[in-house]
Amino acid sequence: MDADLIIVGAGMVGSTLALALQDSGLDILLIDAGPLEVQPFDREGAFEPRVSALSAASQRILERVGAWPGIAGRRACAYTEMDVWDGSGTGGVHFTAASVHAEALGHIVENRVVQDALLEALRRGTRVRLQGRARLEQVRRDGEAWHLALAGGEELRAPLLVAADGAQSLVRRLTGSETREWDYLHHAIVTSVRCDAPHRRTAWQRFTDDGPLAFLPLERGDDLHWCSIVWSVTEREAERLMVCDDEAFARALGTAFEQRLGAVLEVDSRLCIPLRQRHAKRYVQPGLALIGDAAHTIHPLAGQGVNLGLLDAAVLAEVILVARARGQAPGDIRVLSRFERRRMPHNLAMMGAMEGFERLFQADAPAVRWLRNTGLKAVESVPAMKAMFVRQALGLTGDLPPLARA
Ligand SMILES: Cc1cc2nc3c(=O)[nH]c(=O)nc-3n(C[C@H](O)[C@H](O)[C@H](O)COP(=O)(O)OP(=O)(O)OC[C@H]3O[C@@H](n4cnc5c(N)ncnc54)[C@H](O)[C@@H]3O)c2cc1C
Repeated sequence: MDADLIIVGAGMVGSTLALALQDSGLDILLIDAGPLEVQPFDREGAFEPRVSALSAASQRILERVGAWPGIAGRRACAYTEMDVWDGSGTGGVHFTAASVHAEALGHIVENRVVQDALLEALRRGTRVRLQGRARLEQVRRDGEAWHLALAGGEELRAPLLVAADGAQSLVRRLTGSETREWDYLHHAIVTSVRCDAPHRRTAWQRFTDDGPLAFLPLERGDDLHWCSIVWSVTEREAERLMVCDDEAFARALGTAFEQRLGAVLEVDSRLCIPLRQRHAKRYVQPGLALIGDAAHTIHPLAGQGVNLGLLDAAVLAEVILVARARGQAPGDIRVLSRFERRRMPHNLAMMGAMEGFERLFQADAPAVRWLRNTGLKAVESVPAMKAMFVRQALGLTGDLPPLARA
């Protein structure tokens, strides 16, 4: 065998799993198609268009695996408030970290910052072996081992394989893992914009009949005017918005956002991502586990994708460590099923909630509009209910793995 465990995909989720298992005694090989090199970071430089809203639970996991100092030392914006409102009504809710005596509701961090901090931690003397520029092309099971063929002809073998290779997971496809998928018929336009007014460390989300629009606060030095935006629109509207010039885009965005932060003054380069929800029917097979986006992709409206993935990594690490302590093989299906039993209901509940939310705000029947406006106003007027939502957003409720506990 070439390793006890091969993890395919050194994104945020695969790298976190590797770090969480660094002292397990397992010989771990982490492979990725990318170069796995830490890039020099300019704290005054332009923002990456892909960012994540990391919950408090994710922060704890990243602290425990030794990556948080690398994140905080680069760039992360703590946000303390959140404003959610119905663009075609009068209902809205304002959440604050202070309502649950927390310092922040979460942090907005560029994905590249998280990845580089994780990679740095992996390179800082762990026993995890890294292999970059290693594109997986084939997977087959032979007896007790998985055989992996890489582009270029190299072959690797291991009894335990973890797929952390993202939404288009090749491991998932080649191992016959079935998924349930549905298209949202929406695309997300993501970019960073500079607004006239400072964002006041607030995450803003406006729901409209066309789809949600989020302004997530960013921080560069003392400048609190930049936001990362995720604008969910129909495919046709996305095509139109992607080809218009920066000025016209800024105007359209400012109008869609009701100028809550004044005019949009600058726009970085834009990315357009088709939105598709996907969920693997099983996360495990003998000697195989799917984690992160390889197992589930969720609508970005709640900013929960990577938070769910980091919890997958933390729970899988926990069940593997417990199995090792009991002398059980970590690839045993009974061991891996413990991971699936803990994570699947949680991930499905979050996906279901997002789906319901999306439909509620897509519907333009007057009765549904009335319902959602009344619902938002009701939440706003009951502090205990608001506090419950805040605690959920922090990710500190339910069955937490040791890495995410206080
Ligand atoms: C518009 C948008 C906004 C989002 N906002 C948020 C947010 O605010 N908060 C949040 O929590 N989540 C958010 N998400 C979701 C989040 O980005 C994903 O959940 C997260 O990036 C998934 O991480 P991952 O490590 O599972 O997969 P990935 O980041 O996709 O990593 C997969 C890795 O596998 C490697 N790989 C793939 N195929 C192969 C192969 N064949 N061989 C070798 N290596 C391979 C890739 O190179 C990559 O490094 C958002 C998503 C979108 C689309």
